[in-house]
Amino acid sequence: MVAKYIFVAGGVMSGIGKGIAVSSIGRILKSKGFKVTAIKIDPYINVDAGTMNPIEHGEVFVTDDGIECDQDVGNYERFLDEDIYTDNYLTTGRVYQAVINRERNLEYDGKCVEVVPDIPNEVISRIKRAGRKTKSEFILVEIGGTVGEYQNLLFLEAARMMKLSHPKDVLFILVSYLPIPKKIGEMKTKPTQYAVRTLNSAGIQPNIILARSAVPLDEVRKKKISVFCNVAPEDVISAPDIETIYEVPLNFEKENLGSKLLKKLSLKPKKKKDMKDWKMFVNKIKSSKKTVKIGIVGKYFKTGGFTLTDSYISVIEAVKHAAYSLKRKPKISWLSAEKYEKNPASVKELRKYDGIIIPGGFGTRGIEGKIKAIEFCRKNKVPFLGLCLGMQLAVIEFARNVCKLKNASSTEFSTPLEVKKTNKKHEISKPLTGSKNKEAVIDVMPEQKVLLKERKYGGTMRLGAYKCKIKPNTISAKVYKDSMISERHRHRYELNNDYREILEKNGLVMAGINPEKDLVEIIENKNHPFFVAVQFHPEFKSRPLRPHPLFREFIKTSIK
Ligand code: GLN
Repeated sequence: MVAKYIFVAGGVMSGIGKGIAVSSIGRILKSKGFKVTAIKIDPYINVDAGTMNPIEHGEVFVTDDGIECDQDVGNYERFLDEDIYTDNYLTTGRVYQAVINRERNLEYDGKCVEVVPDIPNEVISRIKRAGRKTKSEFILVEIGGTVGEYQNLLFLEAARMMKLSHPKDVLFILVSYLPIPKKIGEMKTKPTQYAVRTLNSAGIQPNIILARSAVPLDEVRKKKISVFCNVAPEDVISAPDIETIYEVPLNFEKENLGSKLLKKLSLKPKKKKDMKDWKMFVNKIKSSKKTVKIGIVGKYFKTGGFTLTDSYISVIEAVKHAAYSLKRKPKISWLSAEKYEKNPASVKELRKYDGIIIPGGFGTRGIEGKIKAIEFCRKNKVPFLGLCLGMQLAVIEFARNVCKLKNASSTEFSTPLEVKKTNKKHEISKPLTGSKNKEAVIDVMPEQKVLLKERKYGGTMRLGAYKCKIKPNTISAKVYKDSMISERHRHRYELNNDYREILEKNGLVMAGINPEKDLVEIIENKNHPFFVAVQFHPEFKSRPLRPHPLFREFIKTSIK
């Protein structure tokens, strides 16, 4: 089959669920028997998402092949149940960097390299390469940002050029927003009309409009959008707010979105509609009544007066997948680590939760509060799952309070912070290398030290999939079926092997080891119903229909 490309752009405003729309369309097409992949284009200059503060940009997702990308890629993987690779993530910075490198290598044969067509051509070749690499029949391309902004114009240009060269294989979808102003009380279509005109001025006519709104679209609005936006009424799809994002594919299918897309591309489904598993999963979400209370002790929550949970989205989704598979409704609470620093006695509140997670993180803020929380969980047998930084802190807590190494810490926190001021608003703090900490139970590897010294911060952590050998007779051995597993990483610091002996002697179990570098990947505490902490990020591999075994066991114990 000739590959088909569906470009998805956003109208009116950001944050209306383009990523979920792309993921849902992917799931629908997959259920019709097609091989699907999805690409995210972010219009910013950053080469990847790894250098951005999660409060500003949400979670940094990591793929098996180690790219640090936008959280939408996590949604693609979760909905499609397919792995996504480096080629599927584009940013302006990445595209320009490739073109400039090529120019420096004399690969343009002495020609003048120009923004148009050389940049869109690079975009197009990357989109095609991602499709080829995954042997996909459908390549869904999400263009980040909103139609009408300057930043994503070159990507729309690439989409337009693709339609020109592949007229029968390219479709455009606009995900637009229809506000219902409180005082007016009526759903307004005008902003969407403007969005379509703007798209038209970029040479693109949408084939389908997904109408996002608080409530379902009525026939009057459907017709209006149809007439003013030059789209058949049946191609204006109602996409109201719903209880769970996992219901979106089912909602789209109520309006036969899948069949409509196939018809426009002169295709027939390869197999009969099969969303049975997905429907069962959504039913579980809706019918789970009993709750399980999980506390997440973190720090990337607050921006101004709002609480953002996007920074931990994969952790949240992994908790949901596991809880729903056990027919429990997860009640997740955000607990600020800094509170336990200011008021250590308040850590007692952790008793109210069935289980506690300490997720990944960087820098020193909130560290001592998290260590207090871990100590409480260890001593009071509260089920505890530590992720990346969560494992490093569990080791520090154990070293300090059980092994009596009072100065135990991580090189990341024990060195003075060098604060580089780029401007007043954006301060980037980076650890200074070289200074020694007496008890660096968590330390930096020699190769990482070199990178830090040279200020090579972007894309240089231990990233992506690494193997881990599981120790028999551990919780990890019980939950993972294989004795050799593979999990995704994103960190610079590691458990210092010089301290392994003393930690083990005092009862800490090294339940998983990276065989190539002999690095500790999982620790467990024997005298506890569930105290497991991992140097990797299992949350990145949890899928709705295949909850991650560690999360599942954690939730199971929490329920008990
Ligand atoms: N800051 C720690 C490190 O770099 C942990 C990173 C993380 O939690 N992802 O090793």
